[in-house]
Amino acid sequence: MSEIREKIAYLKGLLAGLGDMENEKNKKIWGAVFDVLDAVADEVEDLGDDLEDLGDYVGSIDDDLAEVEEEIYEDDDDDYDEDDAVTIECDNCGEEFEIPEVLLYNDEDVVCPHCGISIYDEDEDMVEFEDDSDDNQ
Ligand SMILES: [Zn+2]
Repeated sequence: MSEIREKIAYLKGLLAGLGDMENEKNKKIWGAVFDVLDAVADEVEDLGDDLEDLGDYVGSIDDDLAEVEEEIYEDDDDDYDEDDAVTIECDNCGEEFEIPEVLLYNDEDVVCPHCGISIYDEDEDMVEFEDDSDDNQ
């Protein structure tokens, strides 16, 4: 039993023992008071249950979010590992050279070390490149 219920029960016992409950007016007034107290206790208990459900729900959302974050950061590592190098063939001179893969995603200008021409096509954001980890085509 909740603390509120205990106190209400105690008050009822107290009135039954000490109050003049033979008096109809007293009986009516205290009956109304206990109706209010019981209603308040009900509300508080319902709120407590709702809060518990909400806590469980937030907990499950938190778990799901942790999984999503894990997935995102994992993919992020896969795609943007700064240690990964890609081999690029220069459109201008045909020489191949390696650059850190991360440069491809940073919109930074990449210049061919052999002829000094920017390897970015004017019309495209991304250059074609051969990834060492892909199947040879
Ligand atoms: Zn070149």
